[in-house]
Amino acid sequence: MFFLAGLGSNAKRIGNAGFQKCPNCNNWKPQGVYEISKQATAFFVPIAKWSKEYYVICPICQAGLPVKEGKLNELLQKSITLPDDNKATEIWNDIDSVTVANLVEILKTTGGTSGDNHAALAILMQTIQKEIASKYTKEYFEPTLASYIRSMADVMEIKLT
Ligand SMILES: [Zn+2]
Repeated sequence: MFFLAGLGSNAKRIGNAGFQKCPNCNNWKPQGVYEISKQATAFFVPIAKWSKEYYVICPICQAGLPVKEGKLNELLQKSITLPDDNKATEIWNDIDSVTVANLVEILKTTGGTSGDNHAALAILMQTIQKEIASKYTKEYFEPTLASYIRSMADVMEIKLT
């Protein structure tokens, strides 16, 4: 893992990565794709050779995971249709408010917290889609909901396949 702190202006945000769980601080937040330029030095004198590296970076703790070799284009291609961080957060919070309003009732129908969590999560997903999916662009809503459901699966200790 890599930490952005200290590199400052050599980091340039080049895309959205959507809501992801940070492997360092465990927060679910919209992450960004960054290009980090490093200038090589020879005897402390910068020489005109720059190397570029790409990372997906957490906005909370600034931990970055390197983008896998050959995966940058795919990531940036996906990034084009992902919402920006503010929009993603707005959708996430809206989804969360539907969860807050409905989850207790849903759990009652599936046997409580020790009941069928798979079924509860499926019903929750349907409820969220029914209530708010039409308010948002499909390309924005679906990946954000998918991340949200993964975060709920985490909390409910469900393994998603
Ligand atoms: Zn983090």
